[in-house]
Amino acid sequence: MKQRTLASSISASGIGLHSGQEVLLELQPSAVNSGIVFERSDLPESPQIRADALLVHDTLMSSNLVENGVRIGTVEHILSAVAGLGIDNLVIRVSSAEIPIMDGSAAPFIDLLRQAGIEEQSADKKFLQVEKPIRVTDGDKWAELLPFYGYQLNFEIDFDHPAFDKRYQQARLDFSSENFVEQLSAARTFGFLDDIEQLRKHNLALGGSMDNAIVIDDSKIMNVEGLRFNDEFVRHKILDAVGDLSLCGYSLLAQFNAYKSGHALNNQLIRKLLSDENNFKIVTIDDKDNSPITFWQA
Ligand SMILES: [Zn+2]
Repeated sequence: MKQRTLASSISASGIGLHSGQEVLLELQPSAVNSGIVFERSDLPESPQIRADALLVHDTLMSSNLVENGVRIGTVEHILSAVAGLGIDNLVIRVSSAEIPIMDGSAAPFIDLLRQAGIEEQSADKKFLQVEKPIRVTDGDKWAELLPFYGYQLNFEIDFDHPAFDKRYQQARLDFSSENFVEQLSAARTFGFLDDIEQLRKHNLALGGSMDNAIVIDDSKIMNVEGLRFNDEFVRHKILDAVGDLSLCGYSLLAQFNAYKSGHALNNQLIRKLLSDENNFKIVTIDDKDNSPITFWQA
């Protein structure tokens, strides 16, 4: 399997979840082995921030990176789209300190990336193959990576709230047989009305609305259109995990299992994985037809 980038550049605009301001987003192809790089077009000399788990600075509501004092926030949904399409090299230019929230899912990013076209490059694609079980916990929450020749994510949430149907709090995605684009990419983020009102008091989530999140009050989902999937909440948690885990810098060969995990624990898991070189090895896949992972094909 070969590395992938875009066939052409493409741009779009959207609003920032926290600032509520319009943000210009430009996606540009880049050279083999250059990885995923953010670029702040609103700052002098357009400083870059690498998509690297070790640069995750804070995880309040989203995953936020800081490199040399320059911040880029809410990176997880676009990174999920990029990883879900198997893209290795890309420049993501934004005119703000946060990636636009779009509709709260990864689907608008998937659409943009597909419109630009995906191009195979000359160099072999690198996979990070997990060699040892890695686990992190925080109270009753946990997340783990297990050796597995493929990429499978299993997630369980446990909300005791009338808006959450107990039957739909578990989900799985297997990259060998299932389609990230169809199964997962449209699942939206969700938030509780009380939390959103608290954030607003601190001048955060100013752009948040039912156009870019499922909003839940004390008893029900407030969006009149309802859910896109019965298990949309837990699907979104897998979507987030695909983005957060991609910050290891490679496509993963592993099984990921999580219970009530989120951005902070996902990041701790990757940091623990990368902290010891014996935990993993970097491999290529020579026989594309027998690959344990398939990415979207044009
Ligand atoms: Zn999310």
